[in-house]
Amino acid sequence: MRTSLLLLFCALSFAFAAPAFAQDDAELKLRLSRTFGYSSGAGDIQGLFTIYVAGPEDLVKVTFYLDEEAMGEVAQPPFELRFNTDNYPLGVHTISAIGLTSAGREVRSNELRVKFVTAEEGFQAGARIVLPLLGVAFAAIIFSSLLAFWGSGKLKQLPLGAPRNYGVAGGAICVRCGRPFPRHFFSLNLLIGKLERCPFCGKWAIVAAVPLEKLRAAEQAELEGAQSVMTAPLSEGEALRKELDNSRYIDL
Ligand SMILES: [Zn+2]
Repeated sequence: MRTSLLLLFCALSFAFAAPAFAQDDAELKLRLSRTFGYSSGAGDIQGLFTIYVAGPEDLVKVTFYLDEEAMGEVAQPPFELRFNTDNYPLGVHTISAIGLTSAGREVRSNELRVKFVTAEEGFQAGARIVLPLLGVAFAAIIFSSLLAFWGSGKLKQLPLGAPRNYGVAGGAICVRCGRPFPRHFFSLNLLIGKLERCPFCGKWAIVAAVPLEKLRAAEQAELEGAQSVMTAPLSEGEALRKELDNSRYIDL
């Protein structure tokens, strides 16, 4: 009982596996590679392509075929042939190769089914893939720069020392003016930080997110800095100029 089951299993697996092996069994392995042009996953190709074969050690000659017509003969390794699909009729074709060994034995390759399409078809298919991607990238750039513009305008109106919302990307402190600002979610991430432009002084820098307590301290520092500017005693020269200015207005 057990043996018969095993036999049945072997027979079944052989039956299923056999058709799949038919192509791989070819002594000459034929591959197609795009050199310059278009190829789709479905086998539509256009442009410059190269056919390669790998086979027995004693291979001395390979003839490449497009359908029944010989495309070319190569009598020394590497056994490869470059061709342009535009030099052949459009439509479905079968590419294959027949090799000859030094012992005079003929070896056949697997067959590749391809469809030669026009350059326009290839371009249109490529554009269908690339254009939406470009569109998405372009929209993201527009969106993030709008966001940055809108964000910086609102920030500039913020009174000194006002607590601000730093958002999901966290806040950073400007290396030049020392004022804290929220980082943009969409801005370029450069490992050590994000590339950001300070909305207050316009300085570009790679800034890391800073803990909230430091940001709050920097907000406070803005306020203290502003107060110290207002209450700072004027130097002698400044005091004199101010007096002159005032007197000028009084005279008028
Ligand atoms: Zn700044």
